[in-house]
Amino acid sequence: MKLRLPFRRRTVPAAAGPVWTQPGHFRRGDEVVGRNGFIGTVAYVTDDNRIGVGSPGWKMGPAPIGDVDMVRHAANCSPCQADHARRQAEEQLREANYQDRWSIEERNVYDAVMADMRLTTGSAPGGPCPSNGTRYAFGPNSPVREWMRTEFDGHMVDSESPSLSLGRIWDPLDWLRIEREHAGDGLSIVPWGDLPWATIRRAYAYLQETGLTVVLDADLEMALLDDGTVGVEVWPSHMNVEGVVPDEIEQQVNTILGSTPEDYPHSALIWPSRPDRPGTDYTAPYRRSTYNHTMWLWA
Ligand SMILES: [Zn+2]
Repeated sequence: MKLRLPFRRRTVPAAAGPVWTQPGHFRRGDEVVGRNGFIGTVAYVTDDNRIGVGSPGWKMGPAPIGDVDMVRHAANCSPCQADHARRQAEEQLREANYQDRWSIEERNVYDAVMADMRLTTGSAPGGPCPSNGTRYAFGPNSPVREWMRTEFDGHMVDSESPSLSLGRIWDPLDWLRIEREHAGDGLSIVPWGDLPWATIRRAYAYLQETGLTVVLDADLEMALLDDGTVGVEVWPSHMNVEGVVPDEIEQQVNTILGSTPEDYPHSALIWPSRPDRPGTDYTAPYRRSTYNHTMWLWA
C-alpha cells in the first residue's frame, strides 16, 4: 500500500509588518516617494521584495532602491502617505538639531542671503548633469565677496546639503584659476571625505591639460568672515568628464587619486564610462552611448 503524503497547500505565509512591506503592495508604475523627498515611478519589484525606481529624466534608468521599505506611495494610499508625513517630520527634527552647529548669527545671515537669491536661467555647456537650465545668482543685498558674484552668479543650482549651502555648482568652472585669484579673499576648498584637495587638484589639472572638459561637483558652504561679509568654503564631492575618456588618461587620473581602498580608505570609486540605456525603456540592455561620462567620486 502506498502511503500518500498529505497534500500541502502552497500558501503565502501571512505577511507581517506594515502594509508597504507586504508583497505586491507596490506595482510597476506606482508613484513613490523616498525619505529624502525624491519622487519616482516604480520600474520593478523583485520576488524578494526589492524595488527599482525610475524617472523619465534619469538617463541611467531605474535606480535599484533596495528594500521596498525605503519608499512609500506618494498618492492613493493612506498608510503610506501618513507614514511618509511622519518620516518627514522626523527628518525636519534631525535637520533642526544638525543646524545647531551654526551660530544664530550665521544662520540669520545665511537665511537673508538665501532669501535674496535671484533666479536666472542659463545653459550649462559641457556640464554632465542635464537640467532645465535653472540657475541662481546672489541678490543685490547679500554681503558676499564681490568676486563670488563674478564667478558663481548664473552657475548655482539648488543644493541638497542640509548645511549652510549657498548652492551647488556642476557647471564647468575653472576652479584652479578661481583658487589662484581668490584664495586669500574668503575662499577655501575642502573636499568631502579624506582625499586631500592637493591630490584632487593634481588630477583636475592633469585632465584640464589633456583638453577634456572637467567638472567639479561642489557645494558652496557659507563662511561668515570676520568683517561680517560672506565668503565660501567649496566642498567638492566628485569630478566628471563628459564624453569618452581615453583609457590612458583615465588610468593616469586613477593613479593620481589612488584607485584602491588601501590607498584611500574612503569610498573612492572610479566609475568609468557609465553605460546608458536608450530612452526610458528600462528593460533594454545597457550599451555605451554618446552620453557617456566618467566620474571619480571620493565622498
Ligand atoms: Zn502604499
